[in-house]
Amino acid sequence: MRCPICSNEMEQGFLQGNQRVAWVKNKHNITLKPKRGEVLLENKTLDSFLLTAWICKDCKKVVIDYADKDYQEG
Ligand SMILES: [Zn+2]
Repeated sequence: MRCPICSNEMEQGFLQGNQRVAWVKNKHNITLKPKRGEVLLENKTLDSFLLTAWICKDCKKVVIDYADKDYQEG
């Protein structure tokens, strides 16, 4: 995926966290009902979350893909 800002190739990894949030190169090992227009991406308040994400370290941008998630739309 190309960076939407500088068009450089972005590096694919994951956005992962529970109390901390980090973009990671590999997978290491929240109950809300979304309101109208909102999208609940993860629903594991007692577990960590993991989202596929691309990073541009030049522009400091992260693009998240939630197509593979069991998400809920309000
Ligand atoms: Zn960029």
